[in-house]
Amino acid sequence: MAVLEPPRCPTCPGRPSLWKDTTSVVPARPDQWRWYCAECRGEWAPTFEQRMTFTYGS
Ligand SMILES: [Zn+2]
Repeated sequence: MAVLEPPRCPTCPGRPSLWKDTTSVVPARPDQWRWYCAECRGEWAPTFEQRMTFTYGS
């Protein structure tokens, strides 16, 4: 199985990897997660492709 590489923060100079924030996920909607940056506290909605890959592909 391929290792999934998370995207990097577009605003932090160190380009840290983003975390998958699943705090808003409920059982009925397993794809309601966000990318989260621990450095700038930013959040990004995943693209459709990322949503599929990182929700169901691992
Ligand atoms: Zn950041």
